[in-house]
Amino acid sequence: VTADQPRAGSGAWAEFTVERVDDDVFRVPLPLDGDALKAVNVYLLTHGDQVTLIDSGWSFGRGLELLGEALGTLDLDLTQIDRVLVTHFHRDHYTLAMRLRELFGTRVLLGAGEQCSLDLLLAGRADGRRSMFTLWGAEALRGPVDALSQEPPSFYAMPDDWLEAPTEVSVGGHTLEVLPTPGHTRGHVVFADRAHGRLFSGDHVLPQITPSIGVESVPSPLPLGDFLSSLQLVRELPDLDVLPAHGPLGATSHQRVDELLAHHRHRLDQTEEVVGGRVLSAYNVARQMLWTRRERRFSELDPYNQVLAVSETAAHLDVLVRDARLIQHESDGTRLYSTPSQEATPCAPR
Ligand SMILES: [Zn+2]
Repeated sequence: VTADQPRAGSGAWAEFTVERVDDDVFRVPLPLDGDALKAVNVYLLTHGDQVTLIDSGWSFGRGLELLGEALGTLDLDLTQIDRVLVTHFHRDHYTLAMRLRELFGTRVLLGAGEQCSLDLLLAGRADGRRSMFTLWGAEALRGPVDALSQEPPSFYAMPDDWLEAPTEVSVGGHTLEVLPTPGHTRGHVVFADRAHGRLFSGDHVLPQITPSIGVESVPSPLPLGDFLSSLQLVRELPDLDVLPAHGPLGATSHQRVDELLAHHRHRLDQTEEVVGGRVLSAYNVARQMLWTRRERRFSELDPYNQVLAVSETAAHLDVLVRDARLIQHESDGTRLYSTPSQEATPCAPR
């Protein structure tokens, strides 16, 4: 789910199917019932009598059954999955892999940068970023967020191996470059298959929406800075077909990365404008911005999306501080942002 949706997308991609990408690559959207994202694309890479998955769906609901059905159309079954390569720790990508491992001993690999988030989850200390609320000046969200209905429990455990990106993984005749792309989460990775011109982009590069930034209990100090650098990293690769975790095939990486970079440049400008001559918390800035492609007011968002909106705003404010377009100070644990006065503009370090 993202609070920033620059353009509308068709939902047809989310209907369950087995879409052939190549003789040995298939896209299978598994439904995310009740979730705004509608579905997650699982990619099947067949090799010999085995199949490797990229991302897996979530551990509850119809995912396992439908994945079995999809494999059946290729004369394969769930026991023939040798590995699941996972782009990031979010439940719609990672937790069905945990079920597969429990049932069939399937190996599961995840980016090493997700270790901190998994430690917190397994210790029962993942708090949906409630620990950030004071910093953001968003104490007003605590009650509404606590009142949200409990989600079904997701099935989490440690992976079998950590992917120490950058590294490579061989799958049949394919060499997948595992590239670190922190931003959406700290340990997000993408899988580039240069020989076949493909980028399995997870949630890093999505064709129809802009990924939310720092969606984890303990974000990095500058998650949007990480995300923009990770977009640059992908932009420096050859132009590749984007095989995203949410949304249809058809986008190419250079054009889509350029659009995402432009979106954030525009959003940085808007954020700076809202601060104007005032001293504001991230929460106060977020309340004065418009959200989603339909330009909704902050007060029209549900509490979960309000958290995403404040988090997104804080991420932009912190990049503006890094770039000396704003300054910050803390008061009672809340970070306040303001416009630097002319005299106070710091010299750019050489
Ligand atoms: Zn995600």
